[in-house]
Amino acid sequence: MNQFSPAELSPDGELMSESMRSRYDFIVCGGGTTGSVVARRLAEDPNVSILLIEAGGSDRVPQVIDSTQWMWNIGTSRDWGYKAASSKTVNGRTPLLPMGKVLGGGSSINSSVWARGHMNDFNNWAAASGEEGWNYDNIFKVYCKIEDWQGTPEAKRRGQGRLLNILQPENPFPLVAGLIKGAEPETTMGPLSSSCQLQKVMGYLDEGKTPSGQKP
Ligand SMILES: Cc1cc2nc3c(=O)[nH]c(=O)nc-3n(C[C@H](O)[C@H](O)[C@H](O)COP(=O)(O)OP(=O)(O)OC[C@H]3O[C@@H](n4cnc5c(N)ncnc54)[C@H](O)[C@@H]3O)c2cc1C
Repeated sequence: MNQFSPAELSPDGELMSESMRSRYDFIVCGGGTTGSVVARRLAEDPNVSILLIEAGGSDRVPQVIDSTQWMWNIGTSRDWGYKAASSKTVNGRTPLLPMGKVLGGGSSINSSVWARGHMNDFNNWAAASGEEGWNYDNIFKVYCKIEDWQGTPEAKRRGQGRLLNILQPENPFPLVAGLIKGAEPETTMGPLSSSCQLQKVMGYLDEGKTPSGQKP
């Protein structure tokens, strides 16, 4: 039987398809949500070599593949195990601050809720950085470019046919509809700008199967 060094094996013990090289065109540190997407995008160019380094182990475990089991990753080896500092405001408690330590990072242990960020946050970042690319008009186009919205088509607000399947919950808790309706009179900034409208875009990713950050 062949003996392989740890460097020749993937985290779940499979032989890597090629030996480690001594040089790479790109080294991405952290195979979490962002790092995995960056590495995948770089890999679209077949002429470049990429090394993705992840501190955690394999994402091929049931608690990651089935996102309804997301909470069973917390406190395991797939969680860095951070805690907040003790605070008088929470009676001296130290709440858990989970963070993924596994291929896919947070996207491997999160609950797969798809909620777009708030317009005001992006616009504030654009103003603070002087970088127009961060304003919500531009970010909105990026959201549409990555979504495969499975609900009623709304070409002006939702992307279709792209990498991420977005489903609406089949039986949302009745309080959700009431909450959205209750907020409607307060929203005066137009259909794309109100947080109420943004939350209606919320959905779930891919029928409970976690699209770990390495895949999209
Ligand atoms: C329990 C939980 C539930 C969540 N639920 C949702 C949700 O439903 N919807 C949603 O949109 N967001 C959710 N989030 C947030 C979302 O998952 C994160 O915002 C997102 O994953 C952050 O991506 P990131 O690339 O910045 O970091 P991460 O995905 O955390 O990636 C960082 C990666 O770097 C690795 N790393 C760190 N240090 C090193 C090192 N020295 N060497 C090599 N690798 C290293 C880590 O192990 C990790 O894999 C949730 C997060 C958690 C923890």
